[in-house]
Amino acid sequence: MSSIEMDHIVKEYGDGFQAVNDVSLDIADGEFMILVGPSGCGKSTLLRMIVGLEDITSGEMRIGGARVNEKAPRDRNLSMVFQNYALYPHLSVYENIAFPLRLSKTPNDEVEKRVNQAADVLELHEHLKRKPANLSGGQRQRVAMGRAIVRDADAFLFDEPLSNLDAKLRGQMRTEIARLQRRLGITTVYVTHDQTEAMTLGDRVCVLRKGLVQQVASPRELYEQP
Ligand code: ADP
Ligand code: ADP
Repeated sequence: MSSIEMDHIVKEYGDGFQAVNDVSLDIADGEFMILVGPSGCGKSTLLRMIVGLEDITSGEMRIGGARVNEKAPRDRNLSMVFQNYALYPHLSVYENIAFPLRLSKTPNDEVEKRVNQAADVLELHEHLKRKPANLSGGQRQRVAMGRAIVRDADAFLFDEPLSNLDAKLRGQMRTEIARLQRRLGITTVYVTHDQTEAMTLGDRVCVLRKGLVQQVASPRELYEQP
C-alpha cells in the first residue's frame, strides 16, 4: 500500500498542447479516489502518468513517498485495469491472470496459488482454461480484475473499467469492486463518467476541467450541495 502524491504535474504533448496544466493532488494510503470530468479534461493522461505509460513534462510524482518520474511502469508496482480490459487473446484466462507474475519470474507453485486465490475471489474457476474470445463482457472484466489483484500491488488504477458493460452487470461489478477494495484496502484511483460509481465507490472525488483540478470533495459534499 502506498500514498500517491502529485506535485504541480504538467503534461504537454509534442504539439505543445497541455493536456494536464498544473495538478497537485494527494491520495492517501488506502484511499479510493475518483477522477471525473468532461471528455478530454486529462483524466486518462493523469492516470497514465501515475502508471508510467506517459512521461511527465514537469512536476513531481511520488508513490509511497518516493519520486517515480524516471521509473519504468514495471518498477512502480501498480496494477491498472483498462476500459477495453487489454486481455491477451492467445492466452487462457489462467495465463492472462498469471501474466504479471510471469513477468516478475514468480515460481510456478506460487503462481498457481495466487491465480487460484484470485479466481476464488472473482468466481472464475470454471473459466480458467478458456480464451478471452469465449467469455462474456462481464467475465472478461473479471479476468482483468484478476490480473490486477494477483500480485501485491501498491495501488490500483482503473480507467472506466465498467463502461463497456450493460447496466445490470455494471451494478454487480460496482458492488464487487467496492467489496474488493474494502477487503484489500489498497490505494485506488478510478476514472469514471458514471455518477453512481463516483457516489458509491469514492472516499473522495476529484473533478478535473481542462487539465486543472476544479474541486476535490467527498461524494456527499459534491452531489448534495445546493
Ligand atoms: P480524458 O481521459 O479526460 O477524456 P485524455 O487524458 O484522454 O482526456 O486527453 C486529454 C487531452 O489531451 C485531450 O484533449 C486529448 O485529445 C489530448 N491528448 C491525449 N493524448 C494525446 C496525445 N498522445 N497527443 C496529443 N494530444 C493528446
Ligand atoms: P479515452 O477513451 O480514454 O478518451 P481516447 O479514445 O481519447 O481515449 O484515446 C485513445 C488513445 O489515443 C490514447 O492512448 C490517447 O493517449 C491517444 N490520443 C487521444 N487524443 C489524442 C490526440 N489528440 N492525438 C494523439 N493521440 C491521442
